[in-house]
Amino acid sequence: MSGAFEIASGVRTGAVRAQDAAADALRRAREDIDAGEDGLHAVLQMFEDRAMASAEAIDARVARGEDPGPLAGVPVLVKDNICTGFGRTTCGSRFLERYESPFSATCVERLESAGAVVIGKTNLDEFGMGSSGEHSAFGPTRHPLDRERVPGGSSSGSAAAVGAGIAPVALGSDTGGSVRQPASFCGLVGLKPTYGRVSRWGLVAFASSLDQVGVLSASVRDAALTLSSIAGHDPRDSTSSAHPSEDFTRELAQTLDGIRVGVPKLASASQNHPSVHDAIERTKTALQARGVQIVPIELPSLEQAVPAYYVIAPAEASSNLARFDGVRYGRRAALQPGEGLDVLYKRSRTEGFGEEVRRRIMLGTHVLSSGYYDAYYETAMRVRRVIAREFTGVCAENGVCDAVLMPTTPGPAFRLGEKTTDPLALWLEDVYTTPANLAGLPAISVPAGFTEGTDTGGVRLPIGVQLIGRAFDEARLCRIAHAIEVSAQS
Ligand code: GLN
Repeated sequence: MSGAFEIASGVRTGAVRAQDAAADALRRAREDIDAGEDGLHAVLQMFEDRAMASAEAIDARVARGEDPGPLAGVPVLVKDNICTGFGRTTCGSRFLERYESPFSATCVERLESAGAVVIGKTNLDEFGMGSSGEHSAFGPTRHPLDRERVPGGSSSGSAAAVGAGIAPVALGSDTGGSVRQPASFCGLVGLKPTYGRVSRWGLVAFASSLDQVGVLSASVRDAALTLSSIAGHDPRDSTSSAHPSEDFTRELAQTLDGIRVGVPKLASASQNHPSVHDAIERTKTALQARGVQIVPIELPSLEQAVPAYYVIAPAEASSNLARFDGVRYGRRAALQPGEGLDVLYKRSRTEGFGEEVRRRIMLGTHVLSSGYYDAYYETAMRVRRVIAREFTGVCAENGVCDAVLMPTTPGPAFRLGEKTTDPLALWLEDVYTTPANLAGLPAISVPAGFTEGTDTGGVRLPIGVQLIGRAFDEARLCRIAHAIEVSAQS
């Protein structure tokens, strides 16, 4: 399958038909849906007629000599917690199993106005809560290289679909790593923009101070190209930044001379899979060979991110999910005569939410309850500020580095079921991804090699490394990531 950049270039010159690209992607998506439990279970729903009609309209525009946009004819998939004003938006939840949004998210509208063709929606951990794809109410997504493993989460379907070549690009959401971690597991690029860079209007809220829409793709160029189309101010999202979008592909080929990359000492390093250490070392060498200066740095509070995140994110989730009450949206439980509103709330929520979501709601209401608020929520907010300060300190304009290099995950894709009985083990997966969300900074995971395969049943599993940058410095992050990608491929 060609990448987004190749498809768009081909469609714009008339060498490739958008209708062929859409039909191919739809066929692959159909195979995944038809395979049911035996497939990857990446795609939940597809928009065959609508996608073919938009592709036809794009070809017609090209035939008239018009330019349909930088993503002309690129088939894209959208995580199913991002609203589309067509089809359903389920959030991977029984609660919203039949929910149809009356509008499309700004990011979806922008994709379409850039010429992209939305072919379907992808599976996810319910409401974005999870790191494995196993918490979807509709069944787990599987890893494209090893069906016995997880593709990561919560953007599990987006990662598995791009990894399997169903579509070149998919949107995800990243609250604590849900774009970067599955990208790392599936050998893809996962880009989480700066908080406020991409409008969240139409992204179903999980933890509003952390949520960002992000991109999964097979190459840095495709991620940068897609970000260029979806970024920029949106008056409908009050947290959206005034920063205008840019052409994030423009710096990709520029030299890295003079760039300084900080590498933190990690207390948890000894617990990581050996291939993670190797990937970081290889990346350092590759970057040095391109003129980057590697700087050892200290981020002493980095590893406090998981405990802080798992107080703040559930607190916000418990508040955001209060709107699902059986009255306004989604599932409404049946009542017996004499049963009242209280029963309706309780029963609808019990029937509608899965175990992980209930765990988060209980934890969130607990840490916000009077008597515990100061001990948990306030403390977590203080830790958050310290982590943000440490990052902005090292990465300041006059700081010691331009970006931070560290692992995306402690190890490669794990087995289905391996961590389902131990929620804490699953939460610890997020140790390296949550800091960027707490600090609101842009971050990208880029493929940096494979495991040897000896302890992974002979399958060589991808390993990603992560770059975290200054706020709104995505162009430079993409430039460094592109160099890592090129050297990992050679
Ligand atoms: N794994 C994290 C969680 O379960 C992050 C999820 C996300 O980024 N949406 O909360």
